[in-house]
Amino acid sequence: MGRKFLVGGNWKMNASKALVDTLVGSLNTASWNPDLIEVVIAPPAPYLDLVRSKVKKEVAVSAQNIYFEKKGAFTGEISSEFLKDLGITWTIIGHSERREIFKESDEVTAKKVAYALAEGLNVIACVGEKLEEREANQTTAVVFRQLKAIADVLKPEDWDRVVIAYEPVWAIGTGKVASPQQAQDVHAEIRSWLTANVSESVAHATRILYGGSVGAKNSGDLQSQEDIDGFLIGGASLTASSSSRRSCRL
Ligand code: PGA
Repeated sequence: MGRKFLVGGNWKMNASKALVDTLVGSLNTASWNPDLIEVVIAPPAPYLDLVRSKVKKEVAVSAQNIYFEKKGAFTGEISSEFLKDLGITWTIIGHSERREIFKESDEVTAKKVAYALAEGLNVIACVGEKLEEREANQTTAVVFRQLKAIADVLKPEDWDRVVIAYEPVWAIGTGKVASPQQAQDVHAEIRSWLTANVSESVAHATRILYGGSVGAKNSGDLQSQEDIDGFLIGGASLTASSSSRRSCRL
């Protein structure tokens, strides 16, 4: 069976009750074939419950991050227990903003991915190079290093609930989208890496999303690439216009 296209909306640190009403209202009236497209939205943690209670069941709701402890003296952190209690089935882990701004290392990222999976959550695990790394021809070296840290702590069956998001840091929030060929090249490299380092079947089945300035203008060309199995959309997921729905091909 082919890989089901996944459209993820990462709201980052943007929300209000009014915005929830607008965005959820728009999703609730949109229609798509759930056999072909899976939709996951990731609002900020304080809005997870509200979003889950309002959005239709075809839409899965995701956290943007979790911690790798169940409970206790970890002020400000988000437990997988909270997510399960609220019916939240996904979490993003290792977004470049977590890695850069909050200094989350490959090891911390990997530990969180393993923990989230052990807790029964689905994970969107993010990887991607910075501009200076791309310019120094280190794109694959960086992406493979990030992937290896994650792969090293996973069991073969864990991969069923992992989606990889390739998000070149230079394309995030900048309006500078990777060209379809640039994205496809890295996606194909990631799939080959999975073949060589995990297994042929995992490489074949694992969805690899592209993220970085995806919008209505560029989604069609990106979507037609063989190894692009979905999008993680930031800025454009915050507008409820029909053009943003088109950017998700909804
Ligand atoms: P962007 O963000 O679509 O605003 O570039 C993508 C992301 O950070 O996931």
